Amino acid sequence: MTIDFKKFSGTGMTSDSSRLRLISFLEGEGISNKKVLEVMRLIPRHIFVDEAISSKAYDNTALPIGKSQTISHPLIVAKMTEILMSSNPKRVLEIGTGSGYQAAILSLLVEKVYTIERIELLHNKSKNIFKKIGFKNIYTKFSDGNSGWTQKSPFDAIIVTAGAMDIPEALIEQLSEDNGLLLSPIENNGKQYLKSIIKTQNGFTEKIHGIVNFVPLLAGVTP
Ligand code: SAH
Repeated sequence: MTIDFKKFSGTGMTSDSSRLRLISFLEGEGISNKKVLEVMRLIPRHIFVDEAISSKAYDNTALPIGKSQTISHPLIVAKMTEILMSSNPKRVLEIGTGSGYQAAILSLLVEKVYTIERIELLHNKSKNIFKKIGFKNIYTKFSDGNSGWTQKSPFDAIIVTAGAMDIPEALIEQLSEDNGLLLSPIENNGKQYLKSIIKTQNGFTEKIHGIVNFVPLLAGVTP
C-alpha cells in the first residue's frame, strides 16, 4: 500500500517539522523500534482531531475527539505499538477505534487491522478519515467490542485502547494460540495498568508494563 502523505502535510504547528520534533521526543523517551518511529513520522495526527485543536496535534498530550472521548497521547500509542510489534502480528484487532489514529499507525505495520467502536459518531468519523487518506487494510465495525469480531478471528494480536475491569473472555478466545498477544489497560484498586497476555497451546504468560490512563471500556452501543 502506498499513500502519498505529502498531500496531508500541514503548515506551522502541523507541519513536518512539528512531527519530527515529536519523533525526537519519542526516541528520548525510549521508543527504539525504527519502523514504529517511521510510521509515526508519516501519519498526520492532526487530521484525526478537529481543526480548532490541530495545532496541539504534535504535543505529547491526549486530545478531545468528541463524546467525552480522547485520542491517546503519542507516547502511549508508540509504547503500545512497540509492544504489539514485538510479536510480529499480521492480523490485529483493536477495541476502541476512537479517532482512528492508532488503527492508522498499525495499518502501515501489519497486513490487516480490524477495529471496533461503540460510539456511532466516532465510528463514522474515523471511517471517513480512513477513506480520505486512502487506507485499504483497515476494516471497521460499529459494535460493542466486548464481544470481539468472531467471524474474523483468530487474531495474532488484540489491542484494547480503553480501560477494562477484566479482559473480556471473548477477546481471549479470539486470540491466536500461536503466541497471540493481547494488550489492554486493566483497572486494579483505582489504578490502571497496561497488561499483556501471550497465549499458547500450553497456557498464558502475563506481564505488566506500567501505569496508564485510558477512558473506560463500556458496554453496549450509543449514537
Ligand atoms: N484508539 C483510539 C483512542 C481511543 S479512546 C485512538 O487512536 O484515537 C477509547 C475509545 O474506546 C473511545 O472511542 C470509546 O468510545 C471506545 N470504547 C469504549 N468501550 C468500548 C467497547 N466496549 N467497544 C468498542 N469501543 C469502545
